[in-house]
Amino acid sequence: MKSINEIKDKIDQYFNGIESESLRIVLIYFIFGVSWIVLSDGILKMLVNDQMFIKIQTYKGIIYIAITSFVIFFLVNNRIAELKKKSAALMANQKALTGQVRLNDSIVNHSPVIIVRMKSNGDILNINDFGCALLGFKREEMINRNWIDLLVSNNREEETLRLFENILRKGNIKNIEEQIIKKDGEVLDTRWFGVVDNYGNKDSILAVGVDITEEKKLQKNLEKMVYIDQLTGLPNRVFLEKTITDLIDSGEQFSIALLNIDNFKHVNNSVSYNIGDELLIAIARALESLVEKDDFIVRFSGDEFVYVYMNDINRERLDDKVKALNNRFDRIWPIENYEFYTTISIGISRYPLDGDRYSTILRNANITMEQVKKAGKNSYLFYEEEFKWRNLDNILLAKKMQRAIDDEKFELYYQPLIDIGTGKIIALEGLLRWPDGENGFISPGRFIPLSEETGQIYAIEKYVFRKALEQKKKFNDRGLSDISISINLSNKTLMNKIMFNELIDLIASFQQEFSKIIIEVTETALIIDIETAIDRLSILRALGFKIALDDFGTGYSSLTYLRDLPIDIIKLDQSFIKKILYSKKDQLIIKALTDLSHGLNYKVTVEGIETNEQFEYVKALNCDTAQGYLISRPMPLVEVSEMIESNYVFKQK
Ligand code: C2E
Ligand code: CA
Ligand code: CA
Repeated sequence: MKSINEIKDKIDQYFNGIESESLRIVLIYFIFGVSWIVLSDGILKMLVNDQMFIKIQTYKGIIYIAITSFVIFFLVNNRIAELKKKSAALMANQKALTGQVRLNDSIVNHSPVIIVRMKSNGDILNINDFGCALLGFKREEMINRNWIDLLVSNNREEETLRLFENILRKGNIKNIEEQIIKKDGEVLDTRWFGVVDNYGNKDSILAVGVDITEEKKLQKNLEKMVYIDQLTGLPNRVFLEKTITDLIDSGEQFSIALLNIDNFKHVNNSVSYNIGDELLIAIARALESLVEKDDFIVRFSGDEFVYVYMNDINRERLDDKVKALNNRFDRIWPIENYEFYTTISIGISRYPLDGDRYSTILRNANITMEQVKKAGKNSYLFYEEEFKWRNLDNILLAKKMQRAIDDEKFELYYQPLIDIGTGKIIALEGLLRWPDGENGFISPGRFIPLSEETGQIYAIEKYVFRKALEQKKKFNDRGLSDISISINLSNKTLMNKIMFNELIDLIASFQQEFSKIIIEVTETALIIDIETAIDRLSILRALGFKIALDDFGTGYSSLTYLRDLPIDIIKLDQSFIKKILYSKKDQLIIKALTDLSHGLNYKVTVEGIETNEQFEYVKALNCDTAQGYLISRPMPLVEVSEMIESNYVFKQK
């Protein structure tokens, strides 16, 4: 490139020339003009005789020439001055541009980034100095050579090529991390930005790469700290969660074995914590030596490890593997001067068989491990459907419940319902009680939901129906046929076809009239499958039963379907009564519900009445029936029978 000064000189010369040129033009014009006047005047002299006229003519001509010469000079000069100005501006611009080009050159060559222009097949067209230096090549060694051949490891060639093509296709790429191999063989972590090189060939790309090797190192160290257990050097539970979440995201199957060292507490209690730590480290090393292929082991917590079996959910195969693991633990560990005998309890859960989330998979492994402990430790189990209730307590309770069902350990208590107007007992609600030795009772709020989960509710419900119907018969026989008996029926039984039919069979075996038997159902079933619910309730009603809608008003938009239900009684939920004295809103709701129910010809029962004020209030609302601790708690049959036989009438205290 010509130097800026050379150009400037050329332009200056040119313009200086032009300046004297303008003078020369004017001079020529002037000489020519004057010559013409003098010459033409000579000729004129020959033709005309008037000397005076000729003289005037001459002067006039010369004056004209002089004036026009001046005007021409002025115009030409002006124009040149203008052009000079413009050229000066142009010069300044040119200077700036050249500066910019130099700056760009220096940026391109010396910025601490690799800047490379290449064809989409990787042929290098140009690369900056810094890039060459960083990669350990001379520029000549790179230009016209292929990037992939020079710098990319064999197994990444295909992908890199695709990446280049991607730049062309998408127009740009951002933040792509790639490892490249320097001339000396050292691996470099780099991050890339690429665009189509609009100024070059159509198929060439411009890529800018940053060396992030240090950054990566730092990141790795940080990751290590976050993901590695400090004591054993094994991955920790953070790592486990991340890895398992990733596996689940990518839909890969795997199994985990949760290993809990049996009686590890004793180690820490009987010797120092240091020794305990040593033992844990020894165990960690032993476990590590057992890890196969892609599997890995994690220290999960104090004395718990998790073995992750990648891509394996085959029960037989896992069985062998875990058995081997378990056996390897049945041994003595010499630590310093001590010898420890350890065993482990192992719970296995598999993805996706036993859960679809990290937390579920882990929880199920834990439940299973606890089962092993319960069964005597030093063994392993696979997660079973049977373990699905959240914890061991439930499993045990369900077992215990089964015995109670088999041995008929339940008792039906009865809570009176009184007619609000007369105070007389008109019904008894049967409420199940499960006596538990000296511990009193196991609450139905605890075991009924569990029994619904396990299916034991069917047996329980049949027991309750049988007891209640038998009792009703006895009351009738004793002349107490006016007293109704209310039985709770769970949604499970109502909605299960087989169980419902079994219940109907049971009912049919009682040769009696059912118009004084109330069956209480809750809204939930009706919400889930209203058609079936209506069908079933209609069957019961056709047999003569009265139907009560229990816990009414808890949550659902009940009013919409209330009209269509085959029911006789609405039982307002206790929660309304609890708030009735101070919540204006609940007062309004109860009033509206009562009026609406009466409008639909349903009787209204209010349960949970505990105070006189509450009783007063519902009485004022014209509710029909009341039930609650104020009147009577649920009682054993003997006590409630006495109450009835003594013609009990509720009086406000
Ligand atoms: P539920 O059907 O709403 O029964 C009413 C519950 O309120 C009973 O609790 C009763 O003891 C209690 N209760 C009665 N009056 C008062 C009161 O004034 N204040 C308070 N705070 N509570 C009162 P329980 O006996 O513990 O039964 C709880 C639930 O267990 C019942 O709620 C019912 O859903 C279920 N349950 C009980 N027995 C059976 C049964 O034989 N079959 C079915 N399917 N469920 C039953
Ligand atoms: Ca009830
Ligand atoms: Ca209720």
